[in-house]
Amino acid sequence: MSMEKYCSKAAKAGEVYYLAHIHDEWNNPEVRRLNANEILYPPCQEVRDAISAQLEHLNYYPEDASTDVELRSKLADYVGLPGKADWFTIGNGSMEVIDMLYKAFIDPGDEILIAMPEYSPYARRSKMFLAKAVDVMPIDDDFNYDVNAYQSKVTDKTKMIVVSRPNNPDGHIVSRELVEELCKNDCIVVVDEAYVEFSQDPIEDMLEAHPNMIITHTFSKAMGLAAVRLGFAIANPELIGFINQIRMPTNVNVLARAAAIALLDNPQYIAENTAKIIADRQFLYDAVKEMPGLRPIPSHSNFVMIDCKDCKHTATEINKYLREHNYATRLFANSRGLPGDRFFRITIGTHEDMVAVIDLMKEYLA
Ligand code: PMP
Repeated sequence: MSMEKYCSKAAKAGEVYYLAHIHDEWNNPEVRRLNANEILYPPCQEVRDAISAQLEHLNYYPEDASTDVELRSKLADYVGLPGKADWFTIGNGSMEVIDMLYKAFIDPGDEILIAMPEYSPYARRSKMFLAKAVDVMPIDDDFNYDVNAYQSKVTDKTKMIVVSRPNNPDGHIVSRELVEELCKNDCIVVVDEAYVEFSQDPIEDMLEAHPNMIITHTFSKAMGLAAVRLGFAIANPELIGFINQIRMPTNVNVLARAAAIALLDNPQYIAENTAKIIADRQFLYDAVKEMPGLRPIPSHSNFVMIDCKDCKHTATEINKYLREHNYATRLFANSRGLPGDRFFRITIGTHEDMVAVIDLMKEYLA
């Protein structure tokens, strides 16, 4: 007997998000992880000590975000909004924050504008919430967007506009002025700042003037704590209140909280890693630019996407060659917004990783 009659509309519209690339890496420790935009620097000693100190308390529930002023205050200090703890809420990774945004703001039939190529959970969630993801198309080959690319897609059903700033997977960044224009629409504007440290162009200062704007943030990228799963949302307290109304209590565990507090007390660790990654991004970009047939896309993030359109090898072939030599990079062959077998993305690892990847690519293209 089929069990399908029990399946909700949301589950029917959903699909398993199969993370084969992450599985590959956990099962092949010799592989250098250049495919999920994690950083390749290990956590600092303060974070390790803070997690160890919590091992005594694993039998207790964690402090919940509703009463946890300490963590929210430190987040507020980190993004330059001191004293504004009530503008923050937290999630089990920013993926959970995204899920909470859909629960708090999206009804069936709503439209959500998302720039293509996209970070896929937004379109997936749109489908699952029986809403419609509307593609915003780039205006050139470097994945730039102008206000009209967005505004021409706004209708009276538009409930949310998502701006990943910088965007994953291409690394472009839209201007503050563009976000400013989008905020004039009668809808929620989500600015996903997962990679903001690498762009060094945060726009938290715009929140106060734009009560419909929400910024999301993660500890998985520059903060180097992808494994502990912690993300947060920043918005005016009324919007944060709606998110908290659908948020599960104690959704962030004791270890993640302790690690976050220790890290926020050691911002130089984040700054040092970020500076190294920005320098190595330029190093990789400059080297790829000289390779025959390859075009690196200008990036404001901790990765560089490469267009293989004019190359004698496909993106699949180069990606495979690198993987055979223990460098896992991310292939975007024939994916949404990225037609053909043209694109793959390299996360910026250590300097040694970048030297090795460049040498391998030169060797393969020779
Ligand atoms: N937003 C963007 C744009 C991302 O690329 C990612 C991760 N790849 C996330 C959010 C999710 O980050 P996390 O759930 O690890 O906090």
